[in-house]
Parts: sequence; structure tokens; C-alpha cells
Amino acid sequence: MKITIVGAGYVGLVSAACFAELGNQVICVDRDDDRVAQLRAAQVPIFEPGLAELIAKNLREGRLSFTNSMREGVRHADILFIAVGTPPKGDSSADTSQVLAAAQEIGAHLSRFLVVVDKSTVPVGTADKVRETIQAALRQRKQGASGGKRLPDFAVVSNPEFLKEGAAVEDFMRPDRIVIGVDGDAAGRKAETLMRQAYAPFNRNRERVIVMDVRSAELTKYAANALLATKISFMNDMANLADALGADIEQVRKGIGSDRRIGYDFIYAGLGYGGSCFPKDVAAICHTAREAGERMRVVEAVRAVNDAQKERFVARIEAHFDGSLAGRTIALWGLTFKPATDDVREAPSRHIVRRLVALGAQVKAHDPQVHSLEQLMPGESAAQLNRLRSHVTFVDDPMSACEGADALVIATEWKAYRSPDFGALRKLLAAPVIFDGRNLFDPADMRRLGFHYQGVGRRTA
Ligand code: NAD
Repeated sequence: MKITIVGAGYVGLVSAACFAELGNQVICVDRDDDRVAQLRAAQVPIFEPGLAELIAKNLREGRLSFTNSMREGVRHADILFIAVGTPPKGDSSADTSQVLAAAQEIGAHLSRFLVVVDKSTVPVGTADKVRETIQAALRQRKQGASGGKRLPDFAVVSNPEFLKEGAAVEDFMRPDRIVIGVDGDAAGRKAETLMRQAYAPFNRNRERVIVMDVRSAELTKYAANALLATKISFMNDMANLADALGADIEQVRKGIGSDRRIGYDFIYAGLGYGGSCFPKDVAAICHTAREAGERMRVVEAVRAVNDAQKERFVARIEAHFDGSLAGRTIALWGLTFKPATDDVREAPSRHIVRRLVALGAQVKAHDPQVHSLEQLMPGESAAQLNRLRSHVTFVDDPMSACEGADALVIATEWKAYRSPDFGALRKLLAAPVIFDGRNLFDPADMRRLGFHYQGVGRRTA
């Protein structure tokens, strides 16, 4: 099939590479000229396991190309996926301006029947706005055109994306489910047939497609993320209670995870969730609910618990040093919001770095993918970066971060941090103190090894 993906970010690139890998002719459009130039040279601007190889292979084999021309993208496609950003606005609603800008351009270039797919995470009702925007652009063309030429038809479909960064290629190739929201009219039925065809190769060993109406599909994505975030905040609340009661949240986790109705996924206590999706989607669904005259009381609490969790962790560190971090050096392992990605959007580490510096500490940071303040805090003002620069240094290996440090803080559970040489670590640190925001180690083992160890919801060793 001929597929166009608009937006060469995480979702766009993974979708484009995977559709191309399965034999489709794919054009990926991005308005960022530098990004397009890089991608044409097979330089992939994000780190995602397996993605660079897939892009290079499909570029070489002629199934995948990159352009900044929406005209080219629209004219090429049977199906066009909109996978642009939907960042949070100041009022915590989702900013759909990139989606609607793409829709406007689609309307400007549409020349034959096209299935337009919202793959971006968008508030309920956005498909209607996309349809109206395309129709308005078509009407404008009709006014400008001479004669009564019939304008092309199109369908708008919702197909939310559920991939996880760090395992995105695998998730896209082997999805748990493929949600397709379509209208019940003739264009909708035609769109459903084409969408089923496009996803058939991902669907071979069992039926994964779930067809529903457009609004339900849009809401499904928010419901999924809100529920996953709820599991995380629930466990963090429970971990804080475990702390207060002298119980161990890891033992509790195993005790409840073994119940198949609960399951082991997303019930780890820690520093809370971050990333480009959960924080903004949780905020946006609360906003949507308020606009609809409802309140998401559970999800609002999920947000509050998540915000408090990071601060609680910093307060622990501060308390250990009797309320003053002035002159202390803190080694920090892990900056990305989760392992196996280079994404730092809403990463808990950013809050921790800012707070440690505000409390007077020097931070020596290590991350396999993040090597500078510019990378950790993109978009931050030069003045703020300069303020932080004299307090934050980046090192190339985890052990050298610990040299002479008063404590080690773990913020991301990269595999490389899971089995350090504890003997060497104890010697390198000025004091054998570890604050583990990801509960990587066993407190009793750590005590035996001579560490003062604080996890989240674990008995302090
Ligand atoms: P991103 O910010 O990494 O990339 C978006 C890209 O779109 C950028 O390269 C930008 O230049 C381009 N763009 C913006 N407007 C454009 C336009 N009008 N024409 C052409 N290109 C344009 O975004 P992302 O992380 O890939 O997320 C995209 C959407 O998918 C969001 O709605 C997000 O919530 C959703 N989502 C993301 C993930 C994830 O893990 N990142 C997972 C599921 C869903």
C-alpha cells in the first residue's frame, strides 16, 4: 500500500519504518528541514532500539523516503497517518494545533479518496475538527477553482498508538491490539477496509483489530494511559504507607502481582511516572472531563501523588544530611524518564537535579544517552542553564560519578546500573550512602555490604 506518515518523531518514525519493513511504500513528512535532511542520510535523531537499523535498511531498499513536502505526502497516499506532537498547553489541555495545521495542508493538496488517520493522542472530538478543517480547505479550493469540478472525498479515522518507548519497534510489530475508530457511513466503511488491509501483516497469528466509533477510540487511548498511571501512583501511595508501617513494598508487590486480576506490570514503586505521554495525557483527560462538566477524581489524585513523590524523595535526601546539602556532592545515575530511550521529557531526574542544586549540592550525573545540560533540559533559557552549569557535571561512566560523592542517587533503572561492583562503589563514595528511586537492590544485601540504603517503600538498611 501507499502510506504517508506526517511527523517524524517517535511515533512517526517507528510507524514509518515498520510499515515500510512490511513491504509498503512509505513517505514520512516532517516540517523540520534539518530533521528531514538527517533522516535522508539515515541519521536517526532519536535513540530507540532497532529503529536506526530498520530506517537505514528501508531507505536503502527504496521503500521509505523523507520529505518536507505535504503536497508530495498527500498525493502519494492511500492512507495518511497524522503522528505530530500534541504537547500540553498552559491550562493542561492538549495542544492540537500541529494536528489541525496538518489537516489544513491535507485539505489544500487532497486529489483523490484518502483515509486520514489521527495517530497522535488527541482529545475526544478532534477527529471532527480534523474533518471540518479539511472540508474548509477543500471549500476554499472550490471557490478559487473555475468550473464545477467535484472535490475529492476522504474519511477521518482514529487509530491511537500504544507503543512504549524503549520497546517501540517490538510493540508496533507485535501489538496487543489495534484500535480503529471509524464512522458508520460509506467513507467510514471504505476506510475500515483499507485500515484492516494495512494492519493485516501485524495481525497474522490472531485478530488484534478492535473496531469502534471514533470518539470511543479517542477516549480509549486516554483511558489506557490514565489507568496505567493510576497503577503507578497507587503503588507509590502504598509504598509511602509501607514506609510508615515498617512493611516492604517489594514483598507487597509480589503478593498482589501474583493475583491475575492485578498482574505484575506497572506496580513498581519509585519516583513516579514521567515521559512525553503519561503526564500530559493524565492532565488532558482531567481537563477534558472538567470541560464536559465531569471530574476525574481518581485521575486528579493520581497526578497529585505523582508530583509529590519526587519531592518526597528529595526531602529524604535532605533529611539524611540534616537539612542541608550545601557543599555536598551527589552522584546521580540515570536521567532519561525510563531506560532504553533518550527521551527526557518530564523525566523525574530533571526535578531532582533542579532541587538538589537549589539545596546547594553539586551533582555528578551519568546516563548512557544524556551527556549535557542542553540535552537534559531542552528549551531551558541560557541564563538558567548557566546557573545550573556550575553545579552539574556529566561523566562518561557510572563509577566515576561516585568518586568522592557523599551519596549515590539512582533515578532511572538502566540495565548497566543493576549489578555494580559494590566493593569498588563503597571505596569510591566518600560515604556509603545510596538513595535508590527505582528499588534496584535488596536492603538486607545492601546492609551486609556496608551501605546505608534507602529505597522507596523498603525498610531502610
Ligand atoms: P514528537 O514531538 O517526537 O514528534 C512530532 C514531530 O512532528 C516533530 O518532528 C515535528 O517536527 C513534526 N511536526 C509537527 N507538526 C507538523 C506538521 N504540521 N507537518 C509535518 N510535521 C510536523 O512526537 P511523538 O513523541 O512522536 O508523539 C506524537 C504523538 O503520538 C503525540 O500525540 C503523542 O502523545 C502520541 N504518542 C506518543 C508516544 C511516545 O511514546 N512518544 C506513544 C504513543 C502515542
